[in-house]
Amino acid sequence: MEREEILSAIYHCAKCKLCSIASFHPSEEWLPLCPSGEFYGYQAFYAPGKLEIFREILEGELSEPSEGLLKAVYSCTLCGACYEKCKQITSVEIRLPELFEELREEMVKKGWALNVHKDIAKKIKETRNAYGEKYKYEAESTDRNADVLYYIGCTARYRVPEIADAMLQIFDKFGIKYQVMDDEWCCGSVLLRTGQVEEAKELMEHNVEEIKRSGAKTVVFTCPGCLMTFEKNYPDMGVELVHSTQFLTRLKGMKVKKLDMEVAYHDPCHLGRDLGIYEEPRAVLKEVANVKEMKREREQAWCCGSGGGVKSAFDEFALWSAVERIKEAKEAGAEALVSACPFCKRNLREAAEKEGKGMKVYDVVELVNRSLEE
Ligand code: SF4
Ligand code: SF4
Repeated sequence: MEREEILSAIYHCAKCKLCSIASFHPSEEWLPLCPSGEFYGYQAFYAPGKLEIFREILEGELSEPSEGLLKAVYSCTLCGACYEKCKQITSVEIRLPELFEELREEMVKKGWALNVHKDIAKKIKETRNAYGEKYKYEAESTDRNADVLYYIGCTARYRVPEIADAMLQIFDKFGIKYQVMDDEWCCGSVLLRTGQVEEAKELMEHNVEEIKRSGAKTVVFTCPGCLMTFEKNYPDMGVELVHSTQFLTRLKGMKVKKLDMEVAYHDPCHLGRDLGIYEEPRAVLKEVANVKEMKREREQAWCCGSGGGVKSAFDEFALWSAVERIKEAKEAGAEALVSACPFCKRNLREAAEKEGKGMKVYDVVELVNRSLEE
């Protein structure tokens, strides 16, 4: 974005702070929407506060970042809830998450990146995955000319492999031939979200080349963060990019045995607000479990708290946000919280374990795999 465009967007913000509240007028209930503002409690942690920080940097009023300023900028999960709410009430599109990414890019240029994020960039450079793992997640292509390629992503490969395992088993159960990349590199999402744009370029070039060489026509993602990055940051590769839940809705003759389970569906921010995919996960989930809706859902869903580089930098806050979501699922009468994102699952599961109140956490593909009749 050009400087003038950014400043114009910043000056359009009326600082009303209505973007921090989810409204449910039928019950006259107001619930918080901005995790970072709610947790830290200062103006700088809400969307208008961060816009003001950005303005001060651009207009030369701020030359040294305090610890508090760094925290305000980097504790934003880039969940986009503020953007959706602002658009709903003002009909003006102040593209807040994009502005906050621009702000971080500007901060990185000034040498104000967080050390923990620089460490992730270093790990990616050394190992090509965001966790610095040296081993390989074991997966083999069933056909090297298959039309379908499954891009697994760092989190499903190294932190929640049960999601990748379930996806691969679903392909097998349907007799769908697939490819996985021999040399899959991190998609670059964490670097782009934390302002380290230059560091992401090599990764994107590698993945584009590998996918083009595979000849695949459809790339399936279980990670909405990877999918969004390919959709918004990668050049057009001439292939179809789909989320696992979209792919599943196309499979005809899915013989599933409905599980006797009351679940709540948690909209992942990148899948819902960023990509507009709200219906497919619900449609798939309804086939395999009894779905309860939580109060804050779809455009006004409460973020799990782990995106935008927050999990690595401010874990206590990330887990607090996830605990809030677990409480909401409990209130809705659910015994399990189901998402469609490895990053959400990891954070929600950790929070559930910490909270110790027995909430189970799954990804949609895990329940589908479990309910598919052999
Ligand atoms: S971003 Fe929109 S809703 Fe939020 S304070 Fe600014 S004008 Fe108000
Ligand atoms: S993107 Fe999410 S965490 Fe960041 S300011 Fe907006 S609502 Fe708050």
